Amino acid sequence: MTIRIGVAGIAGRMGRLLAEETVAAGAVLAGGIDRPGAEAPAGIALLPDMAALAAGADVVVDFTHASTVAAHAAALAASGKAWVLGTTGLSAADEAAVAEAARRIAVVQAPNFSPGVNLVLALAERMAAALPGETYDAEIIEMHHRQKVDAPSGTAIGLGRAVARGRGVDLDAVKASGRDGHTGARKPGEIGFAALRGGQVVGEHTLLFASATEHIAITHRAFDRRAFATGAIRAALWAVGRPPGLYSMMDVLGMT
Ligand code: NAD
Repeated sequence: MTIRIGVAGIAGRMGRLLAEETVAAGAVLAGGIDRPGAEAPAGIALLPDMAALAAGADVVVDFTHASTVAAHAAALAASGKAWVLGTTGLSAADEAAVAEAARRIAVVQAPNFSPGVNLVLALAERMAAALPGETYDAEIIEMHHRQKVDAPSGTAIGLGRAVARGRGVDLDAVKASGRDGHTGARKPGEIGFAALRGGQVVGEHTLLFASATEHIAITHRAFDRRAFATGAIRAALWAVGRPPGLYSMMDVLGMT
């Protein structure tokens, strides 16, 4: 069976690569959507909305903007088609809309679809479980290109969640993001975030565990955002025909 993949945000940086990688994977590009007036890649007609895109596709890969998530969740749940969601910067309400859609369709959501980062996420959880927060301060440092609109990055938050899971705590209760001014001493068990923005950096993430006697750091550098596109298309092919549920890239890679 040839799988038909629709791309939401097809005029964007990721969307263009997703269109190319769909064809490279032997799937059919079922078209794309973008904002009105956006310039689609050559030879690709823009469809009017998500409902029209989903109607002609088996799965929709969505790398757009957080403001689209609630509407896309509703349209895809109604269509019954699978959803691969790469958009980051989601609010709690957006996440709830994604979870609601996942009761009716297969949703693969990942803050980062590169296989290497997902391996780092798995390691982060195990390292955090072995390195207690009272002794080992966990800090997450990320750098991205100057156009990025959200901070910390979705991947950095994913790393923070993995550390929190490993320690059996809730990230929101221990997160220290964007320290500035008189912050007071570091609280034991805090998970710190620092975001750098500049140039054309595709994505760099370092997870550091710092104790009084040693530092352990693990770094992932993405040189080409095509790593995310190939991973997302792999997720799309995997998602077709799956029962409803909220899946991660770890599920796709068989790492759960
Ligand atoms: P981009 O700005 O180049 O592309 C986004 C596209 O979405 C644009 O063409 C824009 O016109 C379109 N868009 C915006 N609102 C829309 C709407 N209402 N309907 C249809 N299309 C709409 O950005 P990008 O670098 O391609 O990233 C897109 C998203 O994917 C961001 O949230 C980014 O953080 C995320 N991202 C995720 C991963 C991952 O692996 N999960 C990797 C890279 C980027």
